[in-house]
Amino acid sequence: MSTIPVMIPWLGEEEAEAAAAAVRSGWVAQGPRVAAFERAFAEHLGVPHAVAVSSCTTALHLAMIGAGVGPGDEVVVPSLSFIATANAVTYVGATPVFADVDPATGNLTPDTVAPLLTDRTRAVVAVDQGGVPVDLDAIAALVEPRGATVVQDAACAAGSVYRGRPAGAGAELAAYSFHPRKLLTTGEGGMVTCRDGELAARLRRLREHGMSVSAADRHAGAGGAGAVETYDEIGYNHRMTDVQAAIGLVQLGKLPAMTARRRELAARYRELLGADLAAGLVGDPAHGSTNFQSLWLLLPAGAPDRGEVLARLAADGVSARRGIMAAHLEAPYKGTARVPLPVTETLTARTLILPLYHSLTHGQQEHVVAALKAALGR
Ligand SMILES: *Cc1c(COP(=O)(O)O)cnc(C)c1O
Repeated sequence: MSTIPVMIPWLGEEEAEAAAAAVRSGWVAQGPRVAAFERAFAEHLGVPHAVAVSSCTTALHLAMIGAGVGPGDEVVVPSLSFIATANAVTYVGATPVFADVDPATGNLTPDTVAPLLTDRTRAVVAVDQGGVPVDLDAIAALVEPRGATVVQDAACAAGSVYRGRPAGAGAELAAYSFHPRKLLTTGEGGMVTCRDGELAARLRRLREHGMSVSAADRHAGAGGAGAVETYDEIGYNHRMTDVQAAIGLVQLGKLPAMTARRRELAARYRELLGADLAAGLVGDPAHGSTNFQSLWLLLPAGAPDRGEVLARLAADGVSARRGIMAAHLEAPYKGTARVPLPVTETLTARTLILPLYHSLTHGQQEHVVAALKAALGR
């Protein structure tokens, strides 16, 4: 029997055709398909501006610059997140300040953020961990009156809903990932969204070396024939390609079906696990719904060591994963936490992520649950 992986992207002939069409068009770098993907993504979210980039990490990097974060500033982030959340803060010379999270959602709350705010706090990065929407309004109400910006790390959250709107839609700045570990994938890719038109224009320049006229616009004759571009600040090459955007356009159309399927499979896991075990399963918060990008399970008290459980599952053909990492336990950030992070340390040590993907069959699900119950001695 072949191993059940933790994730398989839902890609098909339509994506292959769209990528091939981009190649055949002769325009493979950032161009018309990137522009179309940006418009479609902004429309999906109901936000005015979406700027496509090479990853969520580069989206977060630009969001930090857009929020005015620089050397000497502090940015409150959850330690319980993929390390790119903290790294983006470090890239701009600022200091990530690690806050603890809520045990049920894995997300920052006003209570965990408040004790860490100082005169130097320039921003807070609110993550939708594993797709669970963070309570953005509650954090913004705490942070914005102080003149700091809330940046939403919605890397995992395409398809999630917060207070009736797509997750991230209400943020000043939000960053999304299209890595294959997330729902909607372009291979590598990301998007940064914002409310302000001038900021969006600046982010577009920053992703392309700081150029005043993009290469695609110059090619299309915008800015006047023979327009010479200028470079008014230091930019980056954070561009997405048209091949990626072509795939993204198809994937965006499939997002509602992807999300519905994951939610259906998550509900079925809950039933199969039984009330006792399912008590440790991540679920919807009161203020929204998750896309179950990561379906994590907190091991019950008395369960064997998590490494032992993962090894037993692997031996049974199930490729589960450790839970979300904690940045403050990794070498670059070791010893930097200013407050104890007990919930973070419990979740990172005692959760595991179960296989969940569009083509997961009911039979495979039953096997995963049987293997898990055996691994837990139940
Ligand atoms: C995946 C992820 C990222 C990084 O996304 P990339 O597109 O791989 O750069 C950042 N933050 C969180 C919370 C993530 O889960």
